[in-house]
Amino acid sequence: MSNTETQPAELRCRASLPDGPEPPASRVEVLSPRRVPLGGPRAMTVRRTLPQRARTLIGAWCFADHYGPDDVAGTGGMDVPPHPHTGLQTVSWLFSGEIEHRDSLGSHALVRPGELNLMTSGHGISHSEVSTARTTVLHGVQLWVALPERHRHTGRDFRHHVPRPVRVDGGEARVFLGSLAGDTSPVPAFTPLLGAELTLEPRATTTLTTDAGFEHGLLVDRGRIGMAGTLLHPAELGYRGPGHRTLTLTNETDAPARAVLLGGPPFGEQIVMWWNFVGRSHEEIVRARQEWQDASDRFGGVEGYDGDRLPAPALPNAVLTPRRNPAPPPGGTR
Ligand code: MN
Repeated sequence: MSNTETQPAELRCRASLPDGPEPPASRVEVLSPRRVPLGGPRAMTVRRTLPQRARTLIGAWCFADHYGPDDVAGTGGMDVPPHPHTGLQTVSWLFSGEIEHRDSLGSHALVRPGELNLMTSGHGISHSEVSTARTTVLHGVQLWVALPERHRHTGRDFRHHVPRPVRVDGGEARVFLGSLAGDTSPVPAFTPLLGAELTLEPRATTTLTTDAGFEHGLLVDRGRIGMAGTLLHPAELGYRGPGHRTLTLTNETDAPARAVLLGGPPFGEQIVMWWNFVGRSHEEIVRARQEWQDASDRFGGVEGYDGDRLPAPALPNAVLTPRRNPAPPPGGTR
């Protein structure tokens, strides 16, 4: 997906720092979404929880958009023309509907519920995303992973994986990246990562074994879920810092609940994000934007999309604003 903000801000993002502000008293921080229109008069809106002022990264996860369930008849669904990315991977994960993906690697794929589609931009890629004609309800998440310095100029790549559902107490997990509940995704990552869909039966509680070196984010899709004792509502993202060997989740409703669990060790590098680019400096962002506007080979071309490519928005007049990720909330190994 493209960041469709008409005046995107440039953000400097970094993981927890020892000189950060006092951490909040509670162990789990609740991050509320802001609504961002996807463009067009009837367009669907997405709920964005990353990046935001309070927190910009969870592990290498640097962007989280949650959308739907969206009646495509009313909104026209998704039609994102060819647009570029640098320095990141995109994770498309659907709960319902279908999206046709085309990229400058030559990939042409259908993104379907429960199936991971992971695109690595490396130095530069372009792609389009269009919900298919048979889609009636569109519902899912779009996530970005920042690439570490060593690998951020790597080549383009596209991977597809269908995780088998694995049983956890009171529910199921679909592990699309990393390891959880005895399952490990075969899709490689450039930093340790966890990405999994979790469903919980009504009123169920589950305790997951987690990597104590990971910080975690729980993005609630449906139901109200207690994350280590803190109640999260739909579209909220709960954050918990490293230092815990387990994570207890409770479905506080009488209906099935669903969430996406993200994790990874705090990302050890400061990144700069603007529009669809992840870089390390304002100058890199300016160059990437110019190369997209100049139709440079850096991003390649998308075959088969019916329409024009997306022009980059104007660069902000304001000088880049430093952003910091606050220290994780306190809490020892449990
Ligand atoms: Mn995109």
